[in-house]
Amino acid sequence: MKELFEKIINEGTVLKEDVLKVDSFLTHQIDPELMSLIGKKFADKYRDKNITKIVTIESSGIAPAVFIGLELGVPVIFARKQKSLTMTTELLTASVYSFTKQTTNQISISTKFLTSNDNVLVVDDFLANGQAALGLVELCGQAGASVEAINIVIEKAFQNGRSLLEEKGYIVDSLARITSLEDNKVHFLEE
Ligand code: 5GP
Repeated sequence: MKELFEKIINEGTVLKEDVLKVDSFLTHQIDPELMSLIGKKFADKYRDKNITKIVTIESSGIAPAVFIGLELGVPVIFARKQKSLTMTTELLTASVYSFTKQTTNQISISTKFLTSNDNVLVVDDFLANGQAALGLVELCGQAGASVEAINIVIEKAFQNGRSLLEEKGYIVDSLARITSLEDNKVHFLEE
């Protein structure tokens, strides 16, 4: 996706050989125009798939997820990383190791929002080793919901997330695939 590639090249910062910072448009400040394009791009591929819910994880998955949900006209659920006092109903929960924070979180979604009638698009900002996406598909599985595909904005294709998810039978669909962050530069897999 040309607009996303340009944004990553112009505004992304390579922090380490395996970490990209994109806080000016995706993970802190959000570029609504770019998010709207991302929403349309993904939604166009899944319009005829009877998607009923978008499932993401707080916080940086929420922006792209909302724009996909808006395009498809379906609700967006974000898994919470911390239980809130207001989460009084029964919960679906899974453990997720965070690549950036290097801690394990219990993530949860209320059972009232996800059921066996749902066909889900799982969405996240980044794919690294696949732990966040795996946690989200586990929550979908606990609800008996089916997962149509996993939509990722930025995939670091040199890490093993895609192979882990594909081995389990999931479709992984990403808009920018990065093959390396060596020499402080972003290298893309051209599609
Ligand atoms: P995974 O669970 O696939 O190992 O990592 C994905 C999660 O870690 C995403 O939800 C994202 O928040 C975070 N993440 C992974 N790699 C990066 C990165 O290079 N930059 C940023 N900003 N976040 C990342």
